[in-house]
Amino acid sequence: MNIKKGKVLIRLEHEAQKRNLTYLGNANKKRYKIYQFNECGHKKIMLPEAVRTRKEIPCEICIEIKQNELIKDAGLELVKKGKEGKNTYKIKSCGHLKEIAWKEVKNKHFKCQICFKEKLEREAKQAGLKIIGSGKSGRYRRYKFIKCKHIDEFQLIHVRNKEITCKQCHENEIKKIAKKNNLQYLGKASKKTLDSHLYRKFKFNECGHDQEIRIDHLKEGWFICNTCEKTSLDKPSKIYLLEITVNKFSYLKLGYAKNINTRIKTYRLDKKAIVKRIKIINISTGREAKIIENDIHKRLKKIRINPTKMKQYMYDGFNECYNIDKKELLIDEVNMVG
Ligand SMILES: [Zn+2]
Ligand SMILES: [Zn+2]
Ligand SMILES: [Zn+2]
Ligand SMILES: [Zn+2]
Repeated sequence: MNIKKGKVLIRLEHEAQKRNLTYLGNANKKRYKIYQFNECGHKKIMLPEAVRTRKEIPCEICIEIKQNELIKDAGLELVKKGKEGKNTYKIKSCGHLKEIAWKEVKNKHFKCQICFKEKLEREAKQAGLKIIGSGKSGRYRRYKFIKCKHIDEFQLIHVRNKEITCKQCHENEIKKIAKKNNLQYLGKASKKTLDSHLYRKFKFNECGHDQEIRIDHLKEGWFICNTCEKTSLDKPSKIYLLEITVNKFSYLKLGYAKNINTRIKTYRLDKKAIVKRIKIINISTGREAKIIENDIHKRLKKIRINPTKMKQYMYDGFNECYNIDKKELLIDEVNMVG
C-alpha cells in the first residue's frame, strides 16, 4: 500500500468517526464513499466533503421506518407517493382513498370526506332534511325540508340534534292562528329583550290597537287588548257569576268585566273546564262595576276558597272564588246589584 493512499484512508476514517460514522470504502459512483451509521448500522453513500461539511447527516432508512410506523399508527396505508409530500393513502377503517399532507398524517389530523359527507346526509335525512348546498361557513349547510320543501341554512350540530324547525312554516302557522283570533299579523316584536323572539306584533281588528303577544299565549288564546282593558273603566261593564267545573270540582267565580269571554280567557282554565253563566248584570261603567264587586268580596271574604288552592285551577282571578254550596247566597248578592 502506498503511503499517500494510507494517509487518505486515515483521514476518511477520522472524518467519519467525528460524525459517528464508520468509513467502509468506495461506492460504485465516482468519488462517492460508503459509510455506516454507528448507532443504527444502516449504510449511506456520500461524498467525503458532505461528511465533512453537512450540518446534519440523517439516516434515510431510519426515517422511512419511523414514517411507516406513524402511517400505520394513523390507521393509514400508503398507496401512492405524490407531489409536495402529499401522498395518497387508504384509510383502513373505511377503505376510502385520500390525499393527505405529511403533517396531517403525523398529527392524525385528517378525516374521510366521503364518510363525513355520508354521515351529514344521514343526519339530514333523520331530521327530515336534504342537503342542497354549502352554508355560510364549514359548520353550516343549506337544507331543504323534505315535507314542506322550504329551504333554510342550519348548523350541522343542530341538524344532528334535530334542533331545527321550519321558520317559514312557523310564521305561516302564526298568521293562521292570528286570523282565526281576528288579529292582523304585523311581524317581529320591536322590543329587544332576551325573550323577544318569543313575541310577535299584532293588530286587533276589532279595536285597531297594536300589541306584542307571546306566540305560546296566542296559541292558547291567553291575550286581551291591554289598551282596551285600561280604558274599560269608562265603558259599560257586567257583574257576572260563573259556575266552573274542572275534573269534577265545581266552584263559583264572581267578577266584573267589559267582555266576559275575553275575561274567562285570562283565567287560563283547563281545556276540559266547563263554564256555566249563572248570572250576568249590566252595569253602566267599569268603574261602578269595580266598586260593586269589591264591596261584595269584602263582605264575603271569610267564606271564599283559599286563593292558594285556587291557583291550581286558575292563572288569574283565583282571589274571588266560592264553594258551590254558597250558590244561593251569591245569586242573592248579585240580584241585589241589579
Ligand atoms: Zn438507520
Ligand atoms: Zn371513508
Ligand atoms: Zn316549511
Ligand atoms: Zn283594543
